[in-house]
Amino acid sequence: MLLLSGPNMGGNELKYVTECIETGWVSSVGAYVDQFEKMTAEFAGTQYAVATSSGTTALHICLVMMGVDQNDYIITPNITFIATCNSIKYTGADPILIDADEKNWQMDLDLLQEFLENETEQKNGACHYKKDGRRIPVIMPVHVLGNICDLDRLLGLAQQYNLVVIEDSTEALGSYYKGKHAGSFGLMGTFSYNGNKVITTGGGGMVVTNDEALAKKAKHLTTQAKSDPFEYIHDEIGYNYRLVNVAAAMGVAQMEQLPGFLQRKKEIIAFYKNALEGVGDISFQEVDEAVNPNWWLPTIKTSKQREVLKALNDDKMQSRPFWVPMNQLRMFKNNIFYNKTDRSNHIYQHCLSIPCSTNITDTDLQRVADKIKSCF
Ligand SMILES: *Cc1c(COP(=O)(O)O)cnc(C)c1O
Repeated sequence: MLLLSGPNMGGNELKYVTECIETGWVSSVGAYVDQFEKMTAEFAGTQYAVATSSGTTALHICLVMMGVDQNDYIITPNITFIATCNSIKYTGADPILIDADEKNWQMDLDLLQEFLENETEQKNGACHYKKDGRRIPVIMPVHVLGNICDLDRLLGLAQQYNLVVIEDSTEALGSYYKGKHAGSFGLMGTFSYNGNKVITTGGGGMVVTNDEALAKKAKHLTTQAKSDPFEYIHDEIGYNYRLVNVAAAMGVAQMEQLPGFLQRKKEIIAFYKNALEGVGDISFQEVDEAVNPNWWLPTIKTSKQREVLKALNDDKMQSRPFWVPMNQLRMFKNNIFYNKTDRSNHIYQHCLSIPCSTNITDTDLQRVADKIKSCF
């Protein structure tokens, strides 16, 4: 099976992991955790980085630090991976789902602005949903597929309406907006190291921020809120959300190869764009010129979505439909879904992601492209 986006462990992974095992430094503290955090902060251009057990727990801990609870709403796109909305629900809050932009598949900023203008009001310097008075403390944009919306506009709206920005940049390691790295724009940003992401630690995540107090607090909360190095004194309800050293060792080895991986992702999208140009009604997501995306997961849009999916998977080339939009899932069908024509559904019914592991060969890329072409 040709994997959709599998791990590429061709570097120092085995060496560093072996070192952890031989020295016994396998668990929740260790030099690799510190090094992985330092490398990530440097790469993302933030002052601080705090490793977590997953991207989901990274998002959750950010919301916990903002004091989000069941009286709150969090604004987020309707097209995202479930982890975004799950992290919101863990706090008791509800997502407000904004429909997608039909061109770049990110949160539609016209709709966002309209929602904020018409449906919210300011009370005591905080944003509230007019209909029930619940607070909207945070907006959580998602850099869907490593692409980025018009961030200047989004940040401007967030400031105008007193919304804290927490970036779900879990798909956007290696993506830039106006030369600045994803995750470094909001008060906090997040990364994921799940097996299908640009780099992987098997599973893992990261919170990045320029705020020292928040970085310290994130470390504290993810370490069971232990407040004494010797005695088991804990000063609040904490979480066991740490990344273990053996996973961080993999992360360090992966970070060493990240520039090469990003280069390969760019070659892969260039190959597909060239090979599939003018084939049927195939199109790709639009990328603004201010954005330099990581091209994490090349995804095509076509009315023959189901035929192409079947042809590829039948031939052991793993490809996947886009996520089911959040408003169509049982848990969120009663949530606010702000839209005009439900573009999320259109995107969902037309898009599919195609094989793009960084170690895919050019021969396999050609096989995938030929198989897709044969559907038209
Ligand atoms: C991968 C991902 C996450 C985090 O996933 P984990 O598997 O918990 O690391 C969160 N949001 C989005 C949009 C993602 O794609």
